[in-house]
Amino acid sequence: MRKILVADPLHPEAFDKLKALPGLEVTLKTGMDEAELIKTIPGFEAIVVRSATKVTKKVIEAATDLKLIIRAGIGLDNIDVEAAQAKNIEVANTPAATTISVAELTFALMLGAVRNIGLAVRSMKDHRWEKKLLTGTELFGKTLGIIGSGRIGLAVAERAIAFGMKVIAYDIVPIKTDLAVTQVNLDELLAQADIISLHLPLTPQTKHMISSAEFAKMKDGVILVNASRGGVVDEQALFEALESGKVRAAAIDVYEKEPPADWLLVDHPHVLPTPHIGAAAKEGQKRAGLEVVRIVEERLL
Ligand code: NAD
Repeated sequence: MRKILVADPLHPEAFDKLKALPGLEVTLKTGMDEAELIKTIPGFEAIVVRSATKVTKKVIEAATDLKLIIRAGIGLDNIDVEAAQAKNIEVANTPAATTISVAELTFALMLGAVRNIGLAVRSMKDHRWEKKLLTGTELFGKTLGIIGSGRIGLAVAERAIAFGMKVIAYDIVPIKTDLAVTQVNLDELLAQADIISLHLPLTPQTKHMISSAEFAKMKDGVILVNASRGGVVDEQALFEALESGKVRAAAIDVYEKEPPADWLLVDHPHVLPTPHIGAAAKEGQKRAGLEVVRIVEERLL
């Protein structure tokens, strides 16, 4: 029997499929901190995590039989990939499973930002009728600048085109798509976009890629949407750009520290914040779970 540890909840249908696989002994144990995981991991050949459980160097060192770490989702921030590679442990993820979930949340944020939905909800909940203060703008006819035009960026582009937006995009690689997307350089994007949406991984090159110098190049009253990774935007610079009015509104799903170390940005009236829920849609979680089952069948059995 191959032993597999499911350390974060999987979609129920996927979990049932995993348990039904012959030759596999599945243990579900969630909510473990590093110390508990270090005690638990010996003997397991595979571990499945989402984003909550941290597979640190110490956990990997404590593992005696581990061959496979599977992240149900895309970001590998919670896994010490280098330490895993050093012990010849394979790290797999399910990069495409939640693309639509994240693209749709991006759209919810974009619409929420241009139509002042956060302010409207807050005033109504406070029993204030502030109709006159809440005039927003349409997406139709606006230029959307997408930074990072991979799976999610292009799924956002497809939806933006349906809304009648002009889409320009920046990426370090040539953008391959049949969609009406014009690839531009970063300065052109910053200067032309009415709304900027980020869809980049967090790497040493993308850390604080959007900071004071980039905000200065943007249109006055630009809208910023970030459902990628927190560190891509310099939060202090964003706060200043919101204060000066350079950025009219920012809709943010991801933060440099999660939960945020301070709530300055979240508390800003022109910030529409969500707590990293881009991938948190049932369909995306189900796709990710079923992909985990496929990976287990292919690599472990
Ligand atoms: P992807 O790999 O398909 O696309 C990322 C794109 O960014 C690629 O085209 C790549 O060439 C480009 N890129 C990388 N470095 C760059 C740089 N320095 N400058 C310009 N472009 C650069 O990834 P994806 O599936 O589209 O995911 C995009 C982001 O969304 C990732 O950061 C991922 O972690 C994040 N994400 C967030 C959530 C959420 O819950 N909010 C969920 C899933 C994914």
